Amino acid sequence: MALMLFKNFRLLDPERDDLLDGHELLVEGDVIREVSSSPITSADADVIDCGGKTLMPGLIDCHVHVVLSEVNIRNLENYPITLMTARAMRQMGAMLDRGFTTVRDTGGADWGLRSAVDEGYITGPRLFIAGRAIGPTGGHSDSRRRTDSATRCPCCDALSFSMCLADGVAEVRRAVREEMRQGCDQVKIMMSGGVASPYDPLDSLQFSMPEVNAAVAEATAFGRYVCAHAYSAEAITRAAHAGVRTIEHGNLIDEAAAKLMAEKDMFLVANLVAYYAMKERAAEYGMDGEMLEKNDLVIEGGLRSLEICKRAGVPVAYGSDLLGQLQVDQNREFAIRSQVLSPLEIVRSATSVAARLLRHEGKLGCVKEGAYADLLLVDGDPLANIDLLAGGGTHMAAIMKGGVFHKYALN
Ligand code: ZN
Ligand code: ZN
Repeated sequence: MALMLFKNFRLLDPERDDLLDGHELLVEGDVIREVSSSPITSADADVIDCGGKTLMPGLIDCHVHVVLSEVNIRNLENYPITLMTARAMRQMGAMLDRGFTTVRDTGGADWGLRSAVDEGYITGPRLFIAGRAIGPTGGHSDSRRRTDSATRCPCCDALSFSMCLADGVAEVRRAVREEMRQGCDQVKIMMSGGVASPYDPLDSLQFSMPEVNAAVAEATAFGRYVCAHAYSAEAITRAAHAGVRTIEHGNLIDEAAAKLMAEKDMFLVANLVAYYAMKERAAEYGMDGEMLEKNDLVIEGGLRSLEICKRAGVPVAYGSDLLGQLQVDQNREFAIRSQVLSPLEIVRSATSVAARLLRHEGKLGCVKEGAYADLLLVDGDPLANIDLLAGGGTHMAAIMKGGVFHKYALN
């Protein structure tokens, strides 16, 4: 198996507070074989002189939608899934260009896309999939026009492909089981109103407690977990009591809900950049006024939610949740969070915290023997200047996923 010996770098180990000098790292095949503070001897290895750059784990984004290629997601009902897939390929390649070697898709991506990446047909990050996002009739997963009465076939257009409606305990059970049969890594449910859906108020509570309990019971029985879309403290509290493991968004969280999340070992996946980007540019891509009004309701809670979770001890993972044309802003979340968090805290959110959330500690988000060789070489010290990660891949001289260089611009 191919061996590569990295020398002359500063090591950013997210578990340490500072960069480490004088280390060497050996990659064998797709994994890190050895990391050492003394020289590694390997006669057969190709030597990579890193020129003093910073070596760190590849980034992890815990909230993306690779198939939602339009800011006005309603446009997706005009596309067949072939075109959806072609666009997703482009979006996923761009995520890897930005240094994201793993992404967690929270609605849309299916096992076909995940396998296409693993089999090398699509150049993109490792995918953790939810399959279709499950919600009640009239909720955030229901993107039908008011004049639509029937539901559409999920195979026929890109919008129906990513959403699933279920009402009542029996239907929720069936929907959850179906997504697990389709190989989902996490089950996504909608528990409050959302921004990019037409008719549900943001503070609406979605799904009854018996429905959520059923989703959690089925997911747990299968060895999976439930992630819930939720904005308000009340929706978060309901999710916590039902045994949901991760809260997506959570902008309007309060101290009591955060305390409950900490007690129940839950994670928050924040994604502030989505609201800033929508406020600035979504109108030009056809997002309507009612959705933008809902966006205004949550945007100012974003930074406060990070501070509340920090005080309560709730781990917060990196998310972006950007739709379509706004996905170019994926790394901007680093800069936005730096208004209230330290660079190290933000780096951890996109590496070690994310790996824990994905239940892949020791394999992802770390630079350890036995972990996947998902590595970045950064021009400078991100712990001193987080903007080095905020500018897309511009400050990344090399990006490696699974022992293969996706980008190699060392001189
Ligand atoms: Zn959501
Ligand atoms: Zn989302």
